Amino acid sequence: MIVGVHPLAGFDKLLHYRVPERLRGDLRLGALVRVPVLRALRLGVVGEISPPAAPPDFPLAKLKSVAELVYPFPALSPDLLRLARWMSRYYAAPLDGIIETMIPVAVRNGAAIKEEVLLRAISEEERVSELPPTSGTPAKKAPRAAPKQAAVYEFLARQPHPQPKRLVLERLGVTPAVIAGLVKRGLVREERRRVQRHAYADDWASGEVAAAQPPVLNTEQAAAAAAIEEKCAGGDFGVTLLHGVTGSGKTEVYLHAIDRALKTGGGVIFLVPEVALTPQTVARLRARLEAIAPGHACVVWHSRLSEGERLDGWLALASGEARVVVGARSAVFAPVQDLRLIVVDEEHEPAYKQDESPRYHGRDVAVYRAHLAGAHCVLGSATPSLESYANVQAGKYAFLELKQRVDDRRLPFIDVVDMRVEVMRSRGLTILSQRLVRAMQDRFEKREQVILFINRRGYSSSMICQDCGHVEECEHCSIAMTYHRTDETLRCHLCGAQRSAPARCPKCGSPKIRWRGLGTQRVEEAVRRVLPQARIERMDTDTMGKKNRFREVLAEFRAGQIDVLVGTQMIAKGLDFPNVTLVGLIDADISLHIPDFRASERTFQLLVQVAGRAGRGDLAGEVVVQTFTPQAEPIQFSRHADFAGFSEAELKLRRDFKYPPYRHLIKHLFRGPNPEKLQFYAEQWAKRVESELGAAVELRGPSPSPIEKVKDHYRWQLWYFTENVSKTVPQLVALQREFPWAEDIIQVLDVDPVSL
Ligand code: ADP
Ligand code: ZN
Ligand code: ZN
Repeated sequence: MIVGVHPLAGFDKLLHYRVPERLRGDLRLGALVRVPVLRALRLGVVGEISPPAAPPDFPLAKLKSVAELVYPFPALSPDLLRLARWMSRYYAAPLDGIIETMIPVAVRNGAAIKEEVLLRAISEEERVSELPPTSGTPAKKAPRAAPKQAAVYEFLARQPHPQPKRLVLERLGVTPAVIAGLVKRGLVREERRRVQRHAYADDWASGEVAAAQPPVLNTEQAAAAAAIEEKCAGGDFGVTLLHGVTGSGKTEVYLHAIDRALKTGGGVIFLVPEVALTPQTVARLRARLEAIAPGHACVVWHSRLSEGERLDGWLALASGEARVVVGARSAVFAPVQDLRLIVVDEEHEPAYKQDESPRYHGRDVAVYRAHLAGAHCVLGSATPSLESYANVQAGKYAFLELKQRVDDRRLPFIDVVDMRVEVMRSRGLTILSQRLVRAMQDRFEKREQVILFINRRGYSSSMICQDCGHVEECEHCSIAMTYHRTDETLRCHLCGAQRSAPARCPKCGSPKIRWRGLGTQRVEEAVRRVLPQARIERMDTDTMGKKNRFREVLAEFRAGQIDVLVGTQMIAKGLDFPNVTLVGLIDADISLHIPDFRASERTFQLLVQVAGRAGRGDLAGEVVVQTFTPQAEPIQFSRHADFAGFSEAELKLRRDFKYPPYRHLIKHLFRGPNPEKLQFYAEQWAKRVESELGAAVELRGPSPSPIEKVKDHYRWQLWYFTENVSKTVPQLVALQREFPWAEDIIQVLDVDPVSL
């Protein structure tokens, strides 16, 4: 028997080994093994079992043997192995790195599976029936001679379930010898059971959530749930995009579908963006899932799990004991058995893309995994990504809509405030418009709550005129130009076009054209000036560094101990506070002018999501959006959360410029200590690609990255646009292999990047 093994930790290659007799029974595809590589033992995953697909490049007689099997069961299912291979090709990422991403460290380390011993009393009837037929003497009654043994036996006989040995020893104060005596006499049996260490989210926002009675679905929800249920039951692969306005109760639809999938014996993956940031959502989900699938059937997968907890959660899923996993991006690799449904909540979130190798997109991998498993995939959002929506239009995905908020609550009204007017009125920098100040004062008097958002996406290096709202764009790429301090230029970091930075606004002549984003602190100070009595709290990545602070602030806010919450958009996700009736967005422009062709999409998403935080209780909500460019399309469409209108206009632009979703985009990043050399290699490489692949691939750049220098390393980038990414990527990889790179240049490909 010969196996092909993918060694981990820097070996992107399949190596062949013999399998010694003692391991043959348990060694299956996907098993985690230790194999000799260059005189050291290395961890690897069995990727192929004899006969080898390609003959080993080694004389068979000289093959070494697999040294050890880490667990007697596979660490990767055949589907996950296939998924890993697909990802490796699609994302141009080494297979070993992908496999390492798929299998938690604890499992790779072969962490000990923690077991405990349970004791069970054997009743008289059982003993009799188990006696061999030749033996004539019936078993004795409960032991009389040894009083301690008798006490233990009687205790155990009274219990409905087997009891942990540790507990029995402690409670009854007996020595292990007493139990050994009972076992020897056949009166008590020892059984081993795996211990579940995972916290099951006990620490998640405890107290914030009561396992509420599930609401009765409204008509729209019921129709959507039934449609998804039907698809799942079909047992075929498919994708449904669920577009539901904020507060339309998408979660209840997912839960209904999950319930059905579980009841018919299937497994479920539920992905949420950045779990750590949305404890409220996760806790609510857990409470409901616990009701649907009691007895620890649900595993929560997040970054704060200990190794032991992670191992146990993983084992629980791999063994089929647990059948649902809730988690961020990497939960898409959880060893869920009989996968029937994958839900990707907030599918538009860029957080699903991993920004280090392997640079995969959790949503796209989810779709492919569903495809391999013959499962159904539900992508849900109030602001679907244009990628997913284009797939609906192309007839690839089914489309469901929830147009109403639950209980017919109205979507909040969005009031767009023109900051140019405010600046003129106050003759200087204005943080809070009069409109927003009045609304805040009004809420404060009524004891209702306010959330103010600051837009932190993007670079402070974009330029905007504070008098007329003008932003310099690249004429070729229609994205904002980036200001480069070093040589006072404006550059397009997509195509590399450059010109010297103007001192005055090219449109109105105003000198006020540098844009600096506001910090939460300055906004907090401004609020304090107009509402001196209010209790104000800030929430951003700086102030939330402390563990648990995030949760504490949310709890205080929920309890009504905070009047105004000021935060970056990280708090926009999934918050559901019934007493919030006013939401303000301080600076809508920043995301509108990020140098990215997705700037409009991001702005629309931000505005709609932010607005969705208002008026979720019985009180109507109001949203104030401050902007220097009130006429901008995403701002206008967001006023009525008009996704159809926005996507139609935006997709047209994307089509005209042949931007995603009409073509794929690949980013090639170059890094090195020497700027001239870096530029030289990037340009040589670009020429090479142009001459080899120029017919199928459009190149833009190379050009310096928007942040040109990080930790003494210079950065350049090059872009490829292609219609056929699965053809272009392998071609690029093949060219990369033979190109004479300088040793101090690091270069990576990023396929389908979510930001420029
Ligand atoms: P979305 O994710 O679409 O913004 P949620 O799923 O968070 O909306 O639901 C918003 C709120 O409405 C939640 O508090 C939820 O418990 C509640 N809800 C959902 N469905 C119903 C229903 N059919 N009847 C009453 N309340 C509901
Ligand atoms: Zn101007
Ligand atoms: Zn350009």
